[in-house]
Amino acid sequence: MRKTLVAANWKMHGTKAFAEQLLAELNSGLESGECSAEVVICPPFPYLGVVGAAAENVEQVALGAQNLSEQPSGAYTGEVSAEMLLDCGARYVIVGHSERRSLYGESSELVAAKFAAAKSAGLMPILCVGESLQEREAGNTLKVIAEQIQAVVDLDLENTWQSAVIAYEPVWAIGTGKTASPEQAQEVHQFIRQQLGEAGPATQILYGGSVKAANAAELFAREDIDGALVGGASLQADEFIKICRAAD
Ligand code: PEP
Repeated sequence: MRKTLVAANWKMHGTKAFAEQLLAELNSGLESGECSAEVVICPPFPYLGVVGAAAENVEQVALGAQNLSEQPSGAYTGEVSAEMLLDCGARYVIVGHSERRSLYGESSELVAAKFAAAKSAGLMPILCVGESLQEREAGNTLKVIAEQIQAVVDLDLENTWQSAVIAYEPVWAIGTGKTASPEQAQEVHQFIRQQLGEAGPATQILYGGSVKAANAAELFAREDIDGALVGGASLQADEFIKICRAAD
């Protein structure tokens, strides 16, 4: 039985005061009512400590980061290693977000190396995959997703998908207000699960792309959708709590 997981990607938003306030609101909201989902908060690096401290006593909330270096340590100015994230209390890390792929030129091979670095340090990678609008319109959605997953498979890691999460995030749905329909999302999630072979049934596969309180429940109701990676709506406590509750 896969648990629903709702992960917040704050991207490059907020201040220390904002992080403290949002966590206080989230904690009291999550504690005051039923919410069976696991929750992961991925703030910007400087606020990992603030969010980690605020979430310490809330059992269902875990800390995540938005990126990491593929290198373990060394002369890599500006980079942050998996060990450092663990040391700051993170349990999860997003890898291969489409903004990293498109704005910072991260290839599927680099994303796979980051996935491996996270796993070998004991962090749970949240591997983002997804097609652009052009790729969808050309009928290449499943081919693109398969290639992004294959880059990780090619590393031939031990138990590749154990302690890892996948997020299907169609690029055309991220931050645009356009959500994939539950049918469109389910089709791709089912395909991804098939690609994972034996690990398929146990692996959490999240949907990401303009998830909000109004559409979360119908997405979560689909057989292969195990939760969400949430950008914009994760910056409003009320809205994010409603998304988490949609799991029930
Ligand atoms: C994201 O950044 O991963 C995301 C899904 O953003 P949004 O929810 O704003 O579309």
